[in-house]
Amino acid sequence: MPQSKCLFCRLYAEGEHVRKAGGFAALRDINPKAPVHLLVVPERHVDTFRDVAEFPAEEARDMLEFVAETAREEGLEDYRVVVNVGLGGGQTVFHLHWHVLGGSPALAGFE
Ligand code: 5GP
Ligand code: ZN
Repeated sequence: MPQSKCLFCRLYAEGEHVRKAGGFAALRDINPKAPVHLLVVPERHVDTFRDVAEFPAEEARDMLEFVAETAREEGLEDYRVVVNVGLGGGQTVFHLHWHVLGGSPALAGFE
């Protein structure tokens, strides 16, 4: 269920998307840490990767494929996928999401 106070539930519904299909959206990070910095956001609200088992198995598989397709469609062959987990892991938005970083050999030192 969408959560009314969740930024990414709102951005999933209303945001400007690079692509959106099958319950997943990709959008550009507002504060990019690499030449290409996309966020993959599932429609399903799950607070954090710790709770990834809340996704039905097929949906979890589709989410991974959506991450890979997003990178492919952005023209990235080599890239980095990051999930920050919890405050101590650098998570600031508590709706599970995947960072896709690329566009330079060093990938711009994501922290
Ligand atoms: P986290 O730190 O939770 O792993 O990642 C949250 C990401 O969301 C950050 O990289 C931050 O720049 C991005 N972000 C925060 N607010 C917005 C927003 O309103 N729009 C977009 N496109 N990205 C956002
Ligand atoms: Zn949410």
